[in-house]
Amino acid sequence: MRTNPLRVAVVGAGAGGLFAAAFLARAGVRVEVFEAQAHVGGCASCFSIGPRRFHAGATTLVGLEPDMPLARMLAALELDLPHHVLENTLAIVHGGERRVMSHDTEVNAEAFTARYGAGLGAFWRHAARVAPLAWSFIGDAALPPGGVEDLAALAADPRAWALLPDVVSTTSAKVRRLGPVNAEGLTLLDELLLVSTQSTAAQTPALFGAVGCEYLQRRLYMPHGGLGSLFERLSAQVVATCGAVHLRSPVEGVRADAERPTVRVGGLEVAYDAVVLGVTCWDAAKLVTGDVRPFFARQAARHDRAWSAAGGYFAFDDVFAEGQAVYTQVVLDAPMQSTGARGVFVTIPPRGDTALAGLPGERCLTVSCHTAPESWFDASPEAFAERRALLLEELHKALRIAVPALAGAKCHAAHPATPRTWAGFTGRHLGRVGGLPFGRDLRTLAYPTGRTPHERLLAVGDTVFPGQSVTATALGARRAAERLLATLRA
Ligand SMILES: Cc1cc2nc3c(=O)[nH]c(=O)nc-3n(C[C@H](O)[C@H](O)[C@H](O)COP(=O)(O)OP(=O)(O)OC[C@H]3O[C@@H](n4cnc5c(N)ncnc54)[C@H](O)[C@@H]3O)c2cc1C
Repeated sequence: MRTNPLRVAVVGAGAGGLFAAAFLARAGVRVEVFEAQAHVGGCASCFSIGPRRFHAGATTLVGLEPDMPLARMLAALELDLPHHVLENTLAIVHGGERRVMSHDTEVNAEAFTARYGAGLGAFWRHAARVAPLAWSFIGDAALPPGGVEDLAALAADPRAWALLPDVVSTTSAKVRRLGPVNAEGLTLLDELLLVSTQSTAAQTPALFGAVGCEYLQRRLYMPHGGLGSLFERLSAQVVATCGAVHLRSPVEGVRADAERPTVRVGGLEVAYDAVVLGVTCWDAAKLVTGDVRPFFARQAARHDRAWSAAGGYFAFDDVFAEGQAVYTQVVLDAPMQSTGARGVFVTIPPRGDTALAGLPGERCLTVSCHTAPESWFDASPEAFAERRALLLEELHKALRIAVPALAGAKCHAAHPATPRTWAGFTGRHLGRVGGLPFGRDLRTLAYPTGRTPHERLLAVGDTVFPGQSVTATALGARRAAERLLATLRA
């Protein structure tokens, strides 16, 4: 009988690594998390510049209603997360109009029908019906199936059969089947889906399109102090339960040639009962050596296409109206020259959150958009500096479209972020963020599962199914932890 606790190393303290670590620690495993940066949370962290605290990337959190997967995971971990319940959650600014999304499906569906055509209105109603079923299914089904038993359980689940048609159809095909939609409606849909699924309507399966739209009318939640607080608390809990979180500790290599995989940190190679890789498939391909390397190299080559982000962190005079939406999705009339993006996502944390407020009389904002990363890295120093300056200028314009009151407001701080910033901040290859975009080559069942040829080496994070958000990454990490525990205790 084993007397010592199992020891597992986790590489990276992002959403994937930390949720996996928290579930393992709760099960009595001695977990050691190695994080390259001086802070936890990765793409979903908060960071400070002087007295101002900003969201780095992720700002929306879906599903703290008790029956939703994230709430269930936090309850299972007994993690208390003080948070704001956001009203006036999301505004859409498109074609000179501003629409604050209602929590009432009918109100949104009618507005979309009038502006964009009956197809989009009908898709909205469809999404409102399908998304809750999808969340309940994704929350507890054995996905992706790990073997015959899992497949049999899926086949016996009526939710799987109800959702199947929406897995095999694309979102745009579904919308068109439901009714007419004009070109502007398709543009809006593309921009909304790029944010939630990393793909346009022509590529996103209708099921993910439904989930990626429906959350816009849900109540959203923001932890006090921003999304980074979730990970700061999770990290503290790992330490308090059964583990350690080593900051400023970049892992230099992972090997899984013998029964016990090893991790190299600070020049020392240490063997663990198992290793969880909380980094992307592209970074795993660089980090893992030995027998398992070709596996990640193939995965990285197969999925060699993903977005990065550009954006910025701003502090402005607090000129915002009382009912200011926390999130504003702007659809620009023409793509930005600096990024190629037509959609810009602006987050203005609630006024009452003093940690995120900035200096007295100010508000701190995070702005982001999609951009293809490669050309940001290819640019000469001069061309890069020019493009970065143009980015800042274009973001200022977009911000004034998002919030016209900013026209007369003083800007106290403006820090642009490019794919190079993301690469430096998270170590992610080419600053690729958000997960794998859907495409003809990537339907749900082709998404990496996190399993590797070595059963004691697992991957988590947003390049592992279901990927693509804090909640989805957390779900994948919980499954990885359960799978690993089953293996280690067998
Ligand atoms: C701009 C932007 C906006 C987003 N908006 C939202 C949103 O509103 N809502 C939402 O739910 N999701 C959003 N997302 C997506 C979400 O943030 C991510 O899907 C999720 O946080 C990814 O977590 P991860 O663990 O996979 O990766 P990461 O967050 O990248 O974490 C990986 C961690 O590993 C560390 N690391 C890397 N290499 C090493 C190494 N060799 N050794 C040790 N540590 C290492 C990194 O420093 C990092 O902390 C957004 C992402 C971005 C970039």
